[in-house]
Amino acid sequence: MLAAQALCAHERRVAAMLADPECVGELLLVGLAMARSIDLGDPEFASNGTMPMRVIAEQVYGRHYLPSPMLLPLQPRGDADPRRRLWDVFRQDRRRYDPDVDEGRRYRRLTCGRPMIRREGLCDRNASSQRRLTDPATGRRQWVGCCSQSACKRWFTDLLERNRRELAANPPPTPAANTGGVLERHLPEVDWWVVWKQVDPGWCPPPEGRPFGKPTLTVIVGGDEPEMSVPRPALTVIEGGRR
Ligand SMILES: [Zn+2]
Repeated sequence: MLAAQALCAHERRVAAMLADPECVGELLLVGLAMARSIDLGDPEFASNGTMPMRVIAEQVYGRHYLPSPMLLPLQPRGDADPRRRLWDVFRQDRRRYDPDVDEGRRYRRLTCGRPMIRREGLCDRNASSQRRLTDPATGRRQWVGCCSQSACKRWFTDLLERNRRELAANPPPTPAANTGGVLERHLPEVDWWVVWKQVDPGWCPPPEGRPFGKPTLTVIVGGDEPEMSVPRPALTVIEGGRR
């Protein structure tokens, strides 16, 4: 009966992952393997209560050297060691602010942003120079462009100087997180803050646009080699589903 309940909870969790448009690719593969270990004990937790990350890494990536970046592009390392590759996935999923996410992560033709005086709207000619300015109110960063007309160049120089002065007088707040944390949504038992600090020593909890749910289980990461320790949850906790 307990096993049936665990299986049911596991299936709900997997369905939620598959329905999440951000939970795709390696995040999905790694998440599925971790969920199976948490929900069903497959692979089993070690006798000291640690999640079997090496087995999970080998389930997802194989036991041997991967000859080419099979799934994630631009990976500086990780292919030779499945666990390190797992760590790269966790690093890419750390909760953070990324200005490229606001820009849609794709190239956009930038146009001149100078407001027109005698008509509504902006200059809108192709930008010949561009800078990423920080919004003093929010800390968010966005590209602003300027064309080659002398009036627009004067406007741009003035804008950059005003922005510099504003930021000096009022240091901007840390912008709210806008990406990452996908696995945290689906595996809330894990204390991801500990994991993200391990994979990115400079990581700090960013301000959130949404409430942060406290995890129920603690992850201990230590040593030079990536190791993750997760107390195995009681299966009765699974009953009733996740948030
Ligand atoms: Zn212009």
